Amino acid sequence: MSAVSQFLEANARYASSFAKGDLAAPPTKRVAIVTCMDARLDPAKFLGLEEGDAHVIRNAGGRVTADVLRSLIISQQFLGTREILVIHHTDCGMLTFTDEQLRQRLREQFGVPADDWAFLPFTDLEQSVRDDIALIRRSPFIVPETTVTGWIYDVRTGKLLPVDQ
Ligand code: ZN
Repeated sequence: MSAVSQFLEANARYASSFAKGDLAAPPTKRVAIVTCMDARLDPAKFLGLEEGDAHVIRNAGGRVTADVLRSLIISQQFLGTREILVIHHTDCGMLTFTDEQLRQRLREQFGVPADDWAFLPFTDLEQSVRDDIALIRRSPFIVPETTVTGWIYDVRTGKLLPVDQ
């Protein structure tokens, strides 16, 4: 059975008891979360989120890119969020390669230069969180009174640990 057919079965079960069709779009907790796409992270579960509670913006590493800032600005301007959590995690794949390694791999595999790509890997987990918080704070379009905190999720224990800023 393909993944899609499993998803459709799960969705049918979900929809059969669905009772949240009247939720408003603005997140009730006024929170936006930036985190990694790693399949072991389930922010709804490890933060106790329900539908309608928060924006969860995910990419490889949970890095603050131009597109993440785009989403944060929209989150704040149109949907009223005023708190941001940046959550990276232990054993992240972004700790395992360099830009040059991946560029070379792509060059060899596809025969096309990949020199313009920055994949944003990192070597220091806590520092990567601090760097991404700094990028948020440095944006002129983030509401100044926004609370921004940094965290590391431990994939072995399920615990969220604070990153000192
Ligand atoms: Zn990761």
